[in-house]
Amino acid sequence: MMSDGQFHSGEELGRELGVSRAAVWKALKRLEEAGYPLQSVRGRGYRVPLGAGLLDLQAVQSVLPAPLAAGIDWQLLDSVDSTNAQLMRQLSNVGDGRVRVCLAEQQTSGKGRRGRNWVSPYGQNVYLSVAVPFSDGAQRLEGLSLLVGLVLVETLENCGFRGCGVKWPNDILLNGRKLAGILVEIAGDLTSDCVAVIGVGINVLMKQPESAIEQAWTSLLLSRQDAPLDRNRLVGEFLRRLLAAIDEFRLQGFAPFVDAWQQRDVWRGLPVRVQAGSSSWNGLAMGVDERGALRLETAEGEMLLHGGEVSLRLNDDS
Ligand code: ATP
Repeated sequence: MMSDGQFHSGEELGRELGVSRAAVWKALKRLEEAGYPLQSVRGRGYRVPLGAGLLDLQAVQSVLPAPLAAGIDWQLLDSVDSTNAQLMRQLSNVGDGRVRVCLAEQQTSGKGRRGRNWVSPYGQNVYLSVAVPFSDGAQRLEGLSLLVGLVLVETLENCGFRGCGVKWPNDILLNGRKLAGILVEIAGDLTSDCVAVIGVGINVLMKQPESAIEQAWTSLLLSRQDAPLDRNRLVGEFLRRLLAAIDEFRLQGFAPFVDAWQQRDVWRGLPVRVQAGSSSWNGLAMGVDERGALRLETAEGEMLLHGGEVSLRLNDDS
């Protein structure tokens, strides 16, 4: 009811929902405390930014071609430990080769790489996982998380947001701050039939300082751009583009996407430090090769670094 961006009085909301004004106030207070961008003005009522309503599967599906949407197994949950974990659990029961999509309003144990936490408050961001079957083994999936990042940036550009870019291997930055993260997990037989569970977290409406995030972050709302903050459209557009890109990726791998990825590489040409466990290397980030490996120019020549457990930081010492 509040997704129209207009003010609604507590009385009107209560009447429509068949509850008291006090009950409406209590529920909205809870949302506000959880950081939901709710505005309340005495005498006018409550409003949320235009399009910032709850997730709605029909609204997401309407962005995709109908036959494509009909072929997907969809689920929207109010709360889940992690959307990736949810799909991983279900894969052990079903092997019907369908694409599965899981969306949630909240994650209680959102995951980043290497067991790190992904901060996932209620109703504000996108927590989305997509399970996609592949038949040529996990080796062919190198470059997939870069492809997902590229598609996400292209989607954001198409939805009217400027200033987004990719940071190797799997982060999305907006004006130098982390806007979204990607976690690809592989299940099944790593040498033949396997499933890639692609998890994406995008900060859309989050605005409270989150002390649990130990690096600079932002959200679409905080970027103050004049584009609609509509999570349903964003998810629908992203899925439409992602599934089309994956069709091409199955045939040709990451090679056709290298140029587009490099155009959006925010750290290209900059001095960086690459950390993998206790080893680290310094050099210039020179983009990626056709498999998505980072080309690091070091004093000893070019090194190729593959994703996995590797972290990239700007090197301020140089
Ligand atoms: P990094 O981004 O540190 O180079 P990474 O790719 O391994 O490494 P991820 O696994 O994508 O990181 O995400 C985990 C990190 O992201 C956490 O350590 C935390 O700093 C940060 N983080 C957690 N939640 C959010 C969020 N909602 N928005 C932005 N950053 C977050």
